[in-house]
Amino acid sequence: MHETLASIKNYLQTHGATLVAISKTKPAEEILKVYEQGQRIFGENKVQELTDKYVELPKDIQWHLVGHLQSNKVKYITPFVSLIHSVDSFKLLEEINRQSAKINRVIDVLLQIYIAKEETKFGLGFDEARELLQEPKLNSLHHICIRGMMGMSTFTDDQIQIRNEFRSLKSFFDEVQPLRSASFQPDILSMGMSGDYKIAVEEGSNMVRIGSAIFGERK
Ligand SMILES: *Cc1c(COP(=O)(O)O)cnc(C)c1O
Repeated sequence: MHETLASIKNYLQTHGATLVAISKTKPAEEILKVYEQGQRIFGENKVQELTDKYVELPKDIQWHLVGHLQSNKVKYITPFVSLIHSVDSFKLLEEINRQSAKINRVIDVLLQIYIAKEETKFGLGFDEARELLQEPKLNSLHHICIRGMMGMSTFTDDQIQIRNEFRSLKSFFDEVQPLRSASFQPDILSMGMSGDYKIAVEEGSNMVRIGSAIFGERK
């Protein structure tokens, strides 16, 4: 289903949620069409593609990484990335901090939390995320800021299951607010894609990652 960008944006604006347009696999000219309609936040799931598109496209685009990040590739994106949605270990956080310190940036990240009943999805369990947030070394990382969490629901038609998964992440997001510190300033809850963004927003998401509903199906 192709929705218009305007109708998606209108819905999100009414509900106070930010749109990340997921442009993976789409060529620069299609991204530019969406850019020309006013969209400035785009997300990619692969480091190479993100880096290529950053070089090719207008410099006022805010680029988000939403896919899995390997430690050895962090250095390629730290110069320009504006939000990394997919931090799933303390080790990766340390590497992002190390690379961003070198160029004197503070990089905003989200912890990717595993909420789906599927084995293929990356992310931290709630207990692992709690542990990471209470790691004593966290506050020595001056070049990262954990701004919240990202989660993906199970790929299913069961709306109740999807809703419950989003609800569980919102409740975790609320639970950990008291752990707020210099390195942990949680105000972003990234949940919802083309098929489930309205459920996500109803359950408290304030950032949605929408690809196919804007750009059409990926091949
Ligand atoms: C591809 C992708 C999306 C967008 O998916 P659509 O169903 O096309 O909206 C959102 N988040 C992540 C992490 C993705 O990889």
